[in-house]
Amino acid sequence: MTLIGHFVEGKRFVGTSERRGDVFDPATGRRTGEVALASTADVAVAVEAAARAARSWRDASLAKRSAVLFAFRELVHARRDRLAEVITAEHGKVLADAAGEVQRGLEVIEYACGIPSALRGAFSENVSTEVDSYTLRQPLGVVAVISPFNFPVMVPLWFVPIAVACGNAVVLKPSEKDPSAVLLLAEWFAEAGLPDGVLNVVNGDKEAVDALLDHPEVRAVSFVGSTPIARYVYQRGTAAGKRVQALGGAKNHMVVLPDADLDLAADAAVNAGFGSAGERCMAISALVAVEPIGDALVARIAERMAGLRTGDGRRGCDMGPLVTAAHAARVRSYVEAGVAAGAVAVVDGRDVQPDGDPGGFWLGPTLFDRVTPEMSIYTDEIFGPVLSVLRVGSYAEALELVNANPYGNGTAIFTNDGGAARRYQHEVEVGMVGINVPIPVPMAYHSFGGWKSSLFGDLHAHGEDGVRFFTRAKVVTSRWLDPRHGGVNLGFPTQS
Ligand code: NAD
Repeated sequence: MTLIGHFVEGKRFVGTSERRGDVFDPATGRRTGEVALASTADVAVAVEAAARAARSWRDASLAKRSAVLFAFRELVHARRDRLAEVITAEHGKVLADAAGEVQRGLEVIEYACGIPSALRGAFSENVSTEVDSYTLRQPLGVVAVISPFNFPVMVPLWFVPIAVACGNAVVLKPSEKDPSAVLLLAEWFAEAGLPDGVLNVVNGDKEAVDALLDHPEVRAVSFVGSTPIARYVYQRGTAAGKRVQALGGAKNHMVVLPDADLDLAADAAVNAGFGSAGERCMAISALVAVEPIGDALVARIAERMAGLRTGDGRRGCDMGPLVTAAHAARVRSYVEAGVAAGAVAVVDGRDVQPDGDPGGFWLGPTLFDRVTPEMSIYTDEIFGPVLSVLRVGSYAEALELVNANPYGNGTAIFTNDGGAARRYQHEVEVGMVGINVPIPVPMAYHSFGGWKSSLFGDLHAHGEDGVRFFTRAKVVTSRWLDPRHGGVNLGFPTQS
């Protein structure tokens, strides 16, 4: 049995805690490892190592920092297949999907390679006679990153390359369900020349998270996970005076207007509904069909679902298992609740015959029609391969439904009417919008983040917001004396 520990100050570290978590291969149901769950004292060791490293890393030149990032990018790129295999072995998503996640993470590393441009300040000459004013963006010190199970590589990479490029030291706490991939990333970063202690990984659960939220040396926290935990992390972290961005859960709606290309919409609904077994924060889980297209759209989606192969992610299947037995049971209970509430199960994933070990955590793609807003399959984030179709009579009803939802992560509209799409992008209360694009995950040089219960805090992940989050601004006003200086003047300084 592999013991998965931590990575502190450039070395693997087991820590003093004797608490352990189980790690499974979701496609076989077998326990493949044990992860050390850090104690408060273990976290303190990592934070103190980061604090020591932060003191010198903040002074590393931009050239040196970007050289390390370029070298790291080359290593991750060369070893991307290995990383995808590790993701699939612990998360279960199919290899092609794991490779896609690595690719999106690489794009953030590439953005961070350009940190010298992103950190350029502003300079105003002669704001007053012979007085100049300019801004600097400086690192915060030690920052914590706490990530969810569903993107064990991409989500840590939304933050870590930018935090490090900005001159911070990081303590990363990945999900205890799939902890191995980021340990590789930490080792490869060290191999790329990152000084010891600038990136540390502690594995753990609530105890480790609380220790990070309470440690006075941790200046900022980037969190991604479910809404109740995001809210908790935001409240506890900000109460301790930290800067916090906490990205939460989602219920993403895809609105299909009657003039849409129904084949395009059906492809998109299947891809975004069942990719990664619905375990994506940008998965489409609610499809809002504006009548009269409901019947035609549901038929096209069901037709495509008949061709999907659920099974072991290493066998070229379309969709893998769910992450744990407990999560599979929870998602299954939602399917049961949907049937009991009167939704029409057009495709019932409980009947799936997986191409994989019978011990795996299986549930096939499920399509519900005639779902109504009070059913739990609509109100709750299921985070599984369950797509609910709601039928409405007009664009206005569709918009009202989307805007009444407490989540506001992503949404998509399918239409051939540019005016309608433009109106939707203006009126919808959601942070990321796709127009004839099902999963509108912004590129690394834009920022990723939802609204309402999908994000606590204000700055989004990566892009310019990422650079702002991991730095604080300083404004300098300077005068180099010349013979004309002088005189006592108690008036409030203004330009002259
Ligand atoms: P989760 O909230 O259970 O866990 C996230 C992190 O919080 C993990 O590191 C976990 O160890 C820690 N944690 C869990 N319980 C805790 C507690 N009681 N106190 C302190 N820390 C705790 O989320 P998950 O199941 O790993 O991930 C799925 C969720 O993440 C979904 O809700 C999904 O929508 C969301 N998500 C959101 C985004 C986004 O960008 N908004 C991206 C990916 C995932």
